[in-house]
Amino acid sequence: MRLGIISALHEEQQGLVEAMQRPYKLIHGMREYVVGHLWEIDAVCVLSRIGKVAAAMTATTLVEKFGVTHILFTGVAGAGDAAIRVGDVVVAESLVQHDMDATPLFPRYEVPLTGLTHFLSDRRMAVHLLEAAQRFLAHDFAAAIEAQERAAFALQQPRVHRGLVASADEFVKGRERVRALHAALPGLLAVEMEGAAVAQVCFELGIPFGVIRTISDNANENAATDFMRFVKSVAARYAFHIVRQFCLGWRDGLPAAGAAPAQASRDSAGT
Ligand code: SAH
Repeated sequence: MRLGIISALHEEQQGLVEAMQRPYKLIHGMREYVVGHLWEIDAVCVLSRIGKVAAAMTATTLVEKFGVTHILFTGVAGAGDAAIRVGDVVVAESLVQHDMDATPLFPRYEVPLTGLTHFLSDRRMAVHLLEAAQRFLAHDFAAAIEAQERAAFALQQPRVHRGLVASADEFVKGRERVRALHAALPGLLAVEMEGAAVAQVCFELGIPFGVIRTISDNANENAATDFMRFVKSVAARYAFHIVRQFCLGWRDGLPAAGAAPAQASRDSAGT
């Protein structure tokens, strides 16, 4: 296995890159790829930058040039459902490009000539991510996030959810806008700007992938407020510990037999 780990923002990945063993850097297509080992897993970390094209370019390069066999995207997202709170974690089970509209030639949201609106993430990776996020919240959360930051962002008992993530070249920042998206896309949990692009690339190249997002905002008028503070002091820690738990679990072959398989429907996995 060689795991490609993509994030959109520098702050989200800094800790992981620092934790890499025997790292070396390669520049390609205006991006820095750091190759090394993370908790004994052969890994390549890279910043995609923001947006679908940037993410698609990065995912393709990871596969074609760096030979990764699996891709994991970790980042932040806006809440796509009123029940989802800042500080919660969403594991994508399926992803849709919510700005794809080739109607009337193709159905709304369908990526032309694939026949698909929703792209499924890898079940095994999704289960591992779910378990990793739950272990993080149960064991690492209190020590990893400073009390001051927990208070500032009202992080009380964050939960892990699994379900639909929608991506577009749009930062969603309006109550009405997010409501309309939620109404149009049943089961929507989170909105972001890269996941579904990575999903399409991985589908076309036959590469298993997973997407995990920490909820940074409510995709409403306040979405940009304190965004960078949240990314630095909260989301970066989530990403580090969840990826660590994921690598340890993957290495050890967890989760144990009998763990609930990922389901296509929206579900709340608790803490
Ligand atoms: N303010 C930032 C820009 C962040 S863009 C800056 O100056 O750099 C938002 C990033 O976080 C994207 O990578 C996207 O995937 C994710 N994201 C977080 N909240 C989002 C929202 N409400 N709508 C869309 N993407 C969001």
